[in-house]
Amino acid sequence: MRTLIYPPSYDVVFSFASLLLILVTLFIHISEENYYSKQRYIFGGIIAVALMINSIGFIHNMYLYNDTVKKIIGYDGNTYVVILEKAFTYIMPYVSIKYVMCIFQMEIDKLRKQLILILPMIYAIFFFASGLFTDFFYYFNEEGNIKYLYPQGATVNFTVELYFLFATYLLVRYTRTLSTEKATAIWIYFFLMLAGIPIRIVTKSSSVFEFSVSIALLLCVYTFQNPSEFVDRMSGAGTRNALNFAISTNLIQKKEFTLLGIHIDRFSVLIGSESTETASDLLIQISQYLQQFCQPGNLFFLETGDYILMFPNVSPDESIIENTEEQIKRRFKDFWNIRGEEIKLFESPFAFGFPDEIDSLERFGEVKGVLDKALLKQSRDIIRISDLNMKIVEHDKKIDSIVKHALEDGLLEVYYQPIYAPKTGKFSSCEALLRLKDPQLGFISPAIFMPIAERNGTILAIDKFVLSSVCEMLSSSDVRKLGLEYVEVNLSVVDCIQANLADNVISLLHKYQVKPQEINFEITETYEQGITSVMNENMEKLSQLGVAFSMDDFGTGYSNITRIATIPVKIFKLDKSIIQAAFDSEVSYMVMMNLIKIIKSLKKEIVAEGVETGEQARQIIKLGCDHIQGFFYARPLPKDKFVEFLRDHNG
Ligand code: C2E
Ligand code: CA
Ligand code: CA
Repeated sequence: MRTLIYPPSYDVVFSFASLLLILVTLFIHISEENYYSKQRYIFGGIIAVALMINSIGFIHNMYLYNDTVKKIIGYDGNTYVVILEKAFTYIMPYVSIKYVMCIFQMEIDKLRKQLILILPMIYAIFFFASGLFTDFFYYFNEEGNIKYLYPQGATVNFTVELYFLFATYLLVRYTRTLSTEKATAIWIYFFLMLAGIPIRIVTKSSSVFEFSVSIALLLCVYTFQNPSEFVDRMSGAGTRNALNFAISTNLIQKKEFTLLGIHIDRFSVLIGSESTETASDLLIQISQYLQQFCQPGNLFFLETGDYILMFPNVSPDESIIENTEEQIKRRFKDFWNIRGEEIKLFESPFAFGFPDEIDSLERFGEVKGVLDKALLKQSRDIIRISDLNMKIVEHDKKIDSIVKHALEDGLLEVYYQPIYAPKTGKFSSCEALLRLKDPQLGFISPAIFMPIAERNGTILAIDKFVLSSVCEMLSSSDVRKLGLEYVEVNLSVVDCIQANLADNVISLLHKYQVKPQEINFEITETYEQGITSVMNENMEKLSQLGVAFSMDDFGTGYSNITRIATIPVKIFKLDKSIIQAAFDSEVSYMVMMNLIKIIKSLKKEIVAEGVETGEQARQIIKLGCDHIQGFFYARPLPKDKFVEFLRDHNG
């Protein structure tokens, strides 16, 4: 302890500091979320070697400067310690090279080349081990330090510098595939390693070198080993950055490869209507399934809803691509399970060959853009470059026909999502949300079938069905007694332009003895943009009667604030994307706060949508939102469950 507090030499201090640094690095490395990658394993190896160098170096320094330790270890013991330390120091360049090669995705397949790569390290180990039998290369002086004999003692440095030459070559050739931050990090890493030898000669100590190694590794942990940049947290697959990087390194090395893409149709809408956790569950399930078809590290996920599998040394015409897609297609015919609900996903495959069809990252970006547009219309065969210029694909006829018959077939059911009022602590309203369950396809999200219903005209009948169900629920159950004041009902733009909308609504309300105040229609900002006289009349008629309106999904469109002040709505519903973003970044939090301020200054009520956690709820209540809707309080529930929910919570 004394040696550490009153160090007799800076060697001890450096040694101890670098040991601490490497322990910190190790700690960060193992605390990262678990994901498989070769690069991560090699980096783990580097840390292990560095840890050995540092701890053995520390023991050696303690031997030099602390009498008790000196006695315990003894002169002979120290020679073993030093030999081990040196051997590990010279293993370091080898693992570093392996690491760099892995970053650039270089595989050595030939045994001969592998041998050449490993030879300098073997020589270094042999060199130091020789000290156990002969004094030909070096000897130990009285203090217990190594003294090299020249010229033969210099050979070990020479062989190791070969690694640095090779590394320099790799870096000069490939750093342009890296971001500048990364390029700087890796250059510093090698500079520190390279500087190690001259520093050792000048300072006659290896502690400074050990310290540099530790710093360099810590640097790498934050740049190369930063999993958030390369591993998508939601899906566990590689990110877009990782994909871009893989593409460019492979292109530079002139390697052939194929990207097989699995586009999941309308994925973003679908996933947007789920909680982040549920969405992540589903993504991970799909990742795990797809992982079996490719090497670890060759599966990527893009936020546009595309999984990408990379096949090295394969052209898109080879049968492996078609066979893989066949299998995947079969899997997608089946359900996916999210939190007990079976859902059906539709996929569109595509395949691109590099470098024959696409020879640069820019070109890939362009092609992907065209592809995304084509995918909107969907096709079931593997899309190839040659297909992209043709006007592809028919509509998704299947869903279309399901929607057309959904009403007659009794596939539709209205669910109710409770909305919480913090002021009273009660659930005083709810939103009616439609559910479609097809016997073959399972649950289909309204985000997917409603736009289709709008296009094929069934929306009118469907929305009428929703409103009747709501009225029926109000008049036939005791929700009113349980404190339910009104129900939010979504109104499509198509409804709004029907001349007889108001009359139809009025007669339905009459039929079920429902007061106009018990219904709140939700409209979206799209309505505001395309406002027509028919819409105006409808809104006026219904408002006069006492039906109120809410502005849905507020914050996602491009509303003009002054226009908003004039729209006759009672409630603004802050979109869930605004709420969820607010808890990811400070800027978004400010946006949400200011939107709330504006709405409040207009004397309108606010509903915060998509509140998923208790923390979000607490903050939002603090900001003064009048109503809160979200999975944190309740998911949309079937009628009976909803009544039960009110009984339990409002009673
Ligand atoms: P919307 O009007 O914005 O409905 C709210 C959506 O947010 C619902 O998705 C609801 O389940 C979901 N949601 C509620 N709380 C949370 C939460 O905490 N986190 C997340 N991630 N989501 C939450 P749903 O039921 O899938 O509906 C999607 C869209 O379909 C609705 O968006 C609405 O535009 C449309 N839709 C649903 N039912 C009807 C209907 O009866 N008529 C019409 N015209 N459109 C409907
Ligand atoms: Ca809504
Ligand atoms: Ca909404």
